[in-house]
Amino acid sequence: MAKAVPRRTCIGCRENREQPDLLRFVLSPDGILTPDLMHKLPGRGAYTCLSYSCIRKACERKQFPRAFRIEVAGADAGELRERILRCMEERIASYLALANKAGKVVSGSDQVAGFLRKMSPVKRIVFLASDISEDIGQRIRTLAELNNVACVTLFDKERYGELLGKGLRSVVAVRGDGFVDKLTMEIERYGNFLRGEGCTI
Ligand SMILES: [Zn+2]
Repeated sequence: MAKAVPRRTCIGCRENREQPDLLRFVLSPDGILTPDLMHKLPGRGAYTCLSYSCIRKACERKQFPRAFRIEVAGADAGELRERILRCMEERIASYLALANKAGKVVSGSDQVAGFLRKMSPVKRIVFLASDISEDIGQRIRTLAELNNVACVTLFDKERYGELLGKGLRSVVAVRGDGFVDKLTMEIERYGNFLRGEGCTI
C-alpha cells in the first residue's frame, strides 16, 4: 500500500492540504522567517498555500509567531513574496544549468530555430530573454507554436549567458522529457504565484 502523504494546515486560510502542495517556512537560527521551497531546512515548519493571499493573511493575523511560539522577524508579506519569487527563479535557473551540463540545451536564435524545425520524439521547451528583439522573439514564438512547443519569457540575455557559461543568449531551448517536465512544473508554479493564483479560498 502506498504511504499516506502527510497533510498540513495553511495558517492563512486554514485549509488542510497535502504537505508537498504547501509552502514551508522555517525560522533561521537568528529568528528570521525563511521560505523553505524544498521542504528540507531543519526545525519546526509553518505552512501556507503557495499563494500570496494566504501569506498576507498569515502575516496580518500574526499567525507566524503563533505557529513558532516565538517572535519572528521578516514576516512581511510583500517582502516574503519577493523572496519566494527569487527562490523560484533560482530553481528554474539551476534546472537550466543542469540541463546544459547534461547536453540538453541548444542556444542562439538560429540554432533554436533549426532545432524547432526538426521533428522531435522528446519534449522540448523554449526560453526567451526578456530583452530579446521583437522580431527575433516573434519568429521563435511562431516556430514554437507551429511545433507545439511551449515558449517562456523569463531571464535576460546576460543571465542565460551566465547560466550556460556563454556570451549573451536571447533564445535557449531544452530537450528531454525529464528536464522539460520539471521545468514546466516549476514555471507553472512560478506563474501562478506571480499572478496571485494558487489558492481558491
Ligand atoms: Zn491557504
